[in-house]
Amino acid sequence: MTERRTPTLAIVGAGAVGSTMAYAALMRGAVRRVVLHDVNAAKVRAEVLDIAHGIQFMPMGEIDGSDDVSICAGADIVAVTAGAKQKPGQTRLELAEATVALTRTIMPSLVQVAPDAVYIMVTNPVDVVTYAAMKVSGLPPTQLFGSGTVLDSSRLRWLVATEVGVSVHNVHAYIAGEHGDSEIPLWSSASVGGVPLLEWERQTGQLDAATRARIATEVVTSAYQIIEGKGATNYAVALAVARIVESIVRDERRVLPVSTLLQGWQGIDDVCMSVPTVVHRGGPGERLAVPLSEDERVALIRSADQIRSVARNLGF
Ligand code: NAD
Repeated sequence: MTERRTPTLAIVGAGAVGSTMAYAALMRGAVRRVVLHDVNAAKVRAEVLDIAHGIQFMPMGEIDGSDDVSICAGADIVAVTAGAKQKPGQTRLELAEATVALTRTIMPSLVQVAPDAVYIMVTNPVDVVTYAAMKVSGLPPTQLFGSGTVLDSSRLRWLVATEVGVSVHNVHAYIAGEHGDSEIPLWSSASVGGVPLLEWERQTGQLDAATRARIATEVVTSAYQIIEGKGATNYAVALAVARIVESIVRDERRVLPVSTLLQGWQGIDDVCMSVPTVVHRGGPGERLAVPLSEDERVALIRSADQIRSVARNLGF
């Protein structure tokens, strides 16, 4: 990524997720300038105006938008949220065909105007879309990745924190694999305030196997519940992506479970899915060799197989 005085985040798709992401990134001061692009000109203009009218109350920032993709020119980071949203009861993988077709359309024009940007794919099914976007764009796997299970991991941490009564900031736990129904909580490497989570169970009786299974189910089903109630998930995903953006812009080297192309990670190959990854100025870096239980390893291989088969069925 080239050095600029005003790091610019371009967000493609000014729907529930994209516009909230613009708001979150500016509110957190993650970047100084945000541009929104959407094919719906009236929508993008309305979202830009509404956010711009609040800039006085935010850290210094700028926002602009257009239905012309050239608004994204020279962006440092491009976050792609364009696409149909999940309908109530629809799985993310069922969305795959439509969103992969959209990816084929939008990636070439984006890469033309922002060839040096780091790309963060958010559109679902994010793992398949990330793999397809990499193939369509020809961008290297270091320059394009998916938001993956950063959101799911924050859901997991919140549920664990609520269960044991400590701050969510003191829970370390990752969801890995697909951002979707086959995702896996990595219990064996999780900890609460430095106490390994499985040791926490021995000491306190909290977080027994039944409770862990309930929490895992709640993480997987929470998006369905939110979509049922309000039609979209937007706040937490927007904050999760703002956090990824900060780690890139500020070169924080945060360990985040983003969806990257795995080549030989714990025996898993040629699939984009989430594992704890160091995120730095250039994008995704080292994937951590997290110790896995046998059950976790088997479940991750199954999750990878599932994502790969959807990608293969769509010609990738
Ligand atoms: P939405 O329908 O509110 O917004 C999508 C926007 O994309 C619309 O405004 C539409 O006009 C725009 N769009 C469509 N085609 C476009 C194109 N070619 N170029 C530019 N813009 C285009 O949907 P939403 O609720 O914002 O969700 C967007 C996506 O994000 C969905 O795929 C959803 O499943 C996904 N999502 C991902 C996560 C995650 O953690 N990865 C979380 C929540 C939602």
